[in-house]
Amino acid sequence: MDVVLGVRSSIFLPFDNLGLIVVDEEHENSYKQQNPDPRYNARDIAIVLATIHKCKIILGSATPSVESYYNADSGKYHLVELGERYGKVELPKIQIVDIKDGYRRKIMKSHFHPVLYQAIEEALNNNEQVVLFQNRRGYAPYLECKDCGWVPQCDNCNVSMTYHKYGNQLVCHYCTDKKHIYYRCESCGSTNLTTKGLGTEQIVDEVYELFPTARVTRLDQDSAGSRKRFEKIIKDFENHNTDIIVGTQMVTKGLDFENLTLVGILNADNMLNFPDFRAFERSFQLLSQVSGRAGRRQKQGKVIVQTYTTNHLILKQVLENDFDGMFRSQLPERKAFKYPPYWNFIIIRLRNKDKQKLYKTANLLAENLRKDLYQRVLGPEEPLVNMVKRYFLLNIHIRFEKKISSIKIKKLIIDNLQQIAENKELASTKYEIDVDPL
Ligand SMILES: [Zn+2]
Ligand SMILES: [Zn+2]
Repeated sequence: MDVVLGVRSSIFLPFDNLGLIVVDEEHENSYKQQNPDPRYNARDIAIVLATIHKCKIILGSATPSVESYYNADSGKYHLVELGERYGKVELPKIQIVDIKDGYRRKIMKSHFHPVLYQAIEEALNNNEQVVLFQNRRGYAPYLECKDCGWVPQCDNCNVSMTYHKYGNQLVCHYCTDKKHIYYRCESCGSTNLTTKGLGTEQIVDEVYELFPTARVTRLDQDSAGSRKRFEKIIKDFENHNTDIIVGTQMVTKGLDFENLTLVGILNADNMLNFPDFRAFERSFQLLSQVSGRAGRRQKQGKVIVQTYTTNHLILKQVLENDFDGMFRSQLPERKAFKYPPYWNFIIIRLRNKDKQKLYKTANLLAENLRKDLYQRVLGPEEPLVNMVKRYFLLNIHIRFEKKISSIKIKKLIIDNLQQIAENKELASTKYEIDVDPL
């Protein structure tokens, strides 16, 4: 065998005489195995493997990760740029649309700004296809009582349950627990319940209403959970048995459709506002990747981005296809707040059903680590969702300079966790160590 085409685990095959590794779409999160152990990023393992075998490695991407591009920019990697798109396809024309203004002037049609509405109408009239992107599955992120503000929560996790109209139930996206839909508020008894936020199911409903003759399908984890269902949805779109796909980031995965000329992004803001140091980088990558689906050889594609923040720097950079600008605007923040690519980053995730024991363990661990690492240890602090599957959660962050030996840090963490494991009272706390978390 001369060539192996594989998923991330293929990196562990017993290679002999390895000459070249190609990691395509190197920015993809799916290169990281999150659960179960071992937690590894196949892209990073590939680099180590290439070093061991003294072979060449190519990391490919139209929207590289900040870490990889930083390595290229600083001369650690060699940068090769492709000047034009494959097949000389023109970049799509991107238009940013102000939905704050749309709502204020009451010109929105459901969640569609007239600009997006008309573009869809035009595409359908030309017998062209459309992708509508919203990175939330279900019908609405939550139900809410209009009278008292009560929101149904998961019993196992500290998070509101997502309303799935298809199946008429509430689903927890953290533990998959399900509940029947409420018609009456559990807190005040009111029947005045409403949905809040926007998911893919709701967009499909609205599209049916606004474009009754269009053939619509949904592409998300619920509708395309299995390989077979995923392939059927794609095949149907390829054969133009459907006109519109409404999907989550599943629609970005390198799909190429000859007849797709319009991509609509229903709301760019929930990506941009996500509380993570990579939120802007991810938004840029996601928006660029989704946009890249529009337009083929014969016709320039069109992308319409709906947002409340039309002057957002990232949107401007997406508009101008300015990866370099995005990269350079991210670096000072990464440096100032001690994040990769400048600092190494490890998260220790602790969990226990007993909240008190969890806090005791986490505080002791952080305190002990601080004896050696000082202010490089942050926390413990509760993650955004601080209870999942009835386990309370706490995270300890360790961020340290590149010049400090990772081996030394590793030993320190293991020694300290060993100490905790030997403490009968605290041993019930479970932990995960996530190096270079994504
Ligand atoms: Zn109520
Ligand atoms: Zn749950």
